[in-house]
Amino acid sequence: MFLRELAAPLDALRGAGPAVLKRLARLGLYTAADLLLFPPRDYEDRSAPIPLSGFGRGPVNCQATVMAHDWFGFGRMRTLKVWIEDGEGTRAALVCFNRPFLERQLPVGSAVRVFGRFEYKYGDLQSSSFDAIPAADGAAFSPEGVLPVYPLTDGLAQGTMRKLLAQALRLWGAVDDELPAAVRAARGLCRKAEALRMLHAPASPSEAAEARRALAYEELFYLQVMVGRRALERRRDPVARAAPVDTLARELEARLPFSLTADQRTVLAELAADMAGPWPMARLLQGDVGSGKTLVAFMAALHAIAAGGQAALMAPTELLARQHADTAARLLEPLGVRLAFLSGNVADAARKPLLAALSRGDIDLAIGTHALFSEDVAYRNLRFVVVDEQHRFGVLQRLAMGAKGNRPDLLMMSATPIPRSLALTVYGDLAVSVIRTMPEGRKPVVTHLARQGNEGRVYEFVRRELAAGRRAYFVYPLVERSDRVELKDAEAMYRRLRGEVFPEFRGGLIHARLPEADKRATMAAFTRGELSFIVATSVVEVGVDVPEATCMVIEHAERFGLAALHQLRGRVGRSTLQSYCFLVWSEKLGDEGKRRVMAMKETNDGFLIAEEDLRMRGPGEITGTAQAGSLRLAFADPVRDAGLLEAARADALAILEADPSLSGADGSVLRAVLDRASPFAERTAATG
Ligand code: ADP
Ligand code: MG
Repeated sequence: MFLRELAAPLDALRGAGPAVLKRLARLGLYTAADLLLFPPRDYEDRSAPIPLSGFGRGPVNCQATVMAHDWFGFGRMRTLKVWIEDGEGTRAALVCFNRPFLERQLPVGSAVRVFGRFEYKYGDLQSSSFDAIPAADGAAFSPEGVLPVYPLTDGLAQGTMRKLLAQALRLWGAVDDELPAAVRAARGLCRKAEALRMLHAPASPSEAAEARRALAYEELFYLQVMVGRRALERRRDPVARAAPVDTLARELEARLPFSLTADQRTVLAELAADMAGPWPMARLLQGDVGSGKTLVAFMAALHAIAAGGQAALMAPTELLARQHADTAARLLEPLGVRLAFLSGNVADAARKPLLAALSRGDIDLAIGTHALFSEDVAYRNLRFVVVDEQHRFGVLQRLAMGAKGNRPDLLMMSATPIPRSLALTVYGDLAVSVIRTMPEGRKPVVTHLARQGNEGRVYEFVRRELAAGRRAYFVYPLVERSDRVELKDAEAMYRRLRGEVFPEFRGGLIHARLPEADKRATMAAFTRGELSFIVATSVVEVGVDVPEATCMVIEHAERFGLAALHQLRGRVGRSTLQSYCFLVWSEKLGDEGKRRVMAMKETNDGFLIAEEDLRMRGPGEITGTAQAGSLRLAFADPVRDAGLLEAARADALAILEADPSLSGADGSVLRAVLDRASPFAERTAATG
């Protein structure tokens, strides 16, 4: 049997009563397969004996004799102290907080096996967090080996988990191999059953590492088979479609008050080439905040529209979608392009005729949120799809888009550069274009750090900018006052900035809890210059484009992640005006926070910032990203296991190329596993 098919419920295990089952469920463990694939978060190496005198080297691991019992404290607080002495004659105390029962388990004169960290306190060598197990008297000490340490939940003890896993291994551990034998041999990977044994009951730390490597490889391999299959499928049948036509794009370019940057031109040519090719395009466009991705997307869409197709542009927030719609109205309507806006907030009365127009083909370009791809939306001839800030969407949403048209060209845009290893994991089937340079005349944003308490000086600086007709954003971590944390909130600061600090200017408030219509009206007034400043939460983080804004003030900057800070700063510096970003930090800065604001002060380069972000957050967090995006990786970490990933990718592609349908000898096992219980079922969970 394959591991993934082990659907036996866990109540078959001794000791798994209703209470324990409930706790296991809380950890997402329902079946034999779930349990066997539950990765220990760590291991405790009890293979080497360490006597009490060696307490400075690590946890003591020895056998000792109980010499005496002692109590201290009073009443309910009475605590047992068990005095022990090991074979070398070293004495120490086990301080048994909340473990009075040890009095009976460890009688004076008995032998006990002890594992735990000891230290000198009040003149005695002692430990209060230890494992003590009665030992057979006179028996020689034999170390326990390496014990797995599992993530737990309230009421579930480490010992219980270990017992359950030991049983599970005996009952179900003899699973069949899934990886093709040739791949296993070539990569030096152990068999699956062996990997499970070494994961939960390793004889040494290196066995545990070997198990992880085998299981991680397998995850990455499946992932690459899936990604590779998708890429092959896209290239299987050529699509019949009219060639892209550049007349409208040329017309737009001629009307622009500026000229395209060289990178914009290059990317546009790449897109046009894809669109003229035999297969649907699948391309990721990366470019730092403010590099002018939107315009490129519009121009590519015009190629599709001029050829008689429809295009759709999807943004992660309504605010951003509206802004794109406004830009399109300004730039594209004069060319005769018929536009529509669609979001979850478009009322039924307006929605019906809009959907009808879309399905008749009376709309050329639809702009909106993920509502663009809900079930009741049909396109007549959807030819080109753009996903802005694509990292905010899940893979499944991506697939839904592809399903709408007759395999439309797909352009994904992102200002957050992804490390190559992660790109291969999640977007392994995409080609990549990059805009590196900023439009001409842009000045790097000048970033200043200010300590909370000095923000008055920041406000004075902003006042001069506002007086000169510029605009400013003020960003806060909270919407409203919270009793639990001492943080400034957007609502109170809006009142304060409007009433006391800048009574001579008009301001507006934007946060996620306000009605869409209000947000939109505020944003529009700010764009037109009727409002001089906006007080907001990080809702203004993505995509908002108001070129006259020159000041970004972020208070409690230490509360924001590096990527968010960079995105926020990207809201200014969008014209030839000199812009400024003020990061106001408070007492609670911390080392991490300090490194983040320093990184922000040091560079404006989004690619460098993304790298620093990666270094600071560590690979664990990146896996987190992958999880949120679409997949569940229990063992593999695309960053740490970059080498393994490349190997898995090469192997998966070789197998697919030899046998795209996976019906051959080795492949049929793969297909059985992938089809029956897709290990990477792409989850629908909304992520944006
Ligand atoms: P992003 O890449 O962050 O999505 P946008 O597409 O919002 O950036 O563009 C930022 C601003 O730069 C917009 O106001 C846009 O009109 C302007 N812009 C785009 N291309 C150019 C260019 N070649 N020269 C000058 N300004 C440009
Ligand atoms: Mg953008």
